[in-house]
Amino acid sequence: MKIFIATKNQKKLLELERILKPMGFNVLSQKDFQKEFPDPIEDGTTFEENAIIKAKDGFNNTGLISVADDSGICVDYLGGAPGIYSARYSGEHGDDESNNKKLLRELEGVPLEKRTARYVAAIACVFPDGRSFTVRGECEGKINFEPVGEGGFGYDPYFISELGPMGLLTPEQKDSISHRGKALVLFKEKLKKYINEEI
Ligand code: IMP
Repeated sequence: MKIFIATKNQKKLLELERILKPMGFNVLSQKDFQKEFPDPIEDGTTFEENAIIKAKDGFNNTGLISVADDSGICVDYLGGAPGIYSARYSGEHGDDESNNKKLLRELEGVPLEKRTARYVAAIACVFPDGRSFTVRGECEGKINFEPVGEGGFGYDPYFISELGPMGLLTPEQKDSISHRGKALVLFKEKLKKYINEEI
């Protein structure tokens, strides 16, 4: 059975492929199509809505079962910001360095105990028969004052997880506690049920 992963982010693609290929899916992505699909407008108000927008767009482009994810970091002291705007917090999409600079500026003078935050990941799946579902994973932590470690990406240099600074974790350690790792476990179970038409 073919399944389309609606992302141009190679890291997300690999993570989803690692789950879906052993389940017997023939996994397709943008690179398997001649035509470049334009990015959809992510105008949802939640991670789940944006993940569904991307997965629906994938289905409209390919006609296949389509999967997409949307993720970000929510900081309590900032009322949940940057949230769904995490990738473009400082203006330009995907500029990790300036996003982190802005986050530290916003938290200047705030003590560690008030720098609580969580990563959130929503994964959506849209089926040709109109059914769809989303799952969510969260990963609790705090925002550090200085960058630590070389691992991960995005806000990881400043994120202190339950296992210590995210930048020091191995990929396997990160997967075991991360928002995306947790969402993928739920995703796999739910996808099995939907494929077997129990829902
Ligand atoms: P998306 O590609 O629209 O889902 O944007 C996700 C953004 O949230 C990324 O650009 C990162 O800034 C941030 N983010 C999501 N997951 C992680 C993670 O595991 N580590 C660090 N930053 C993350």
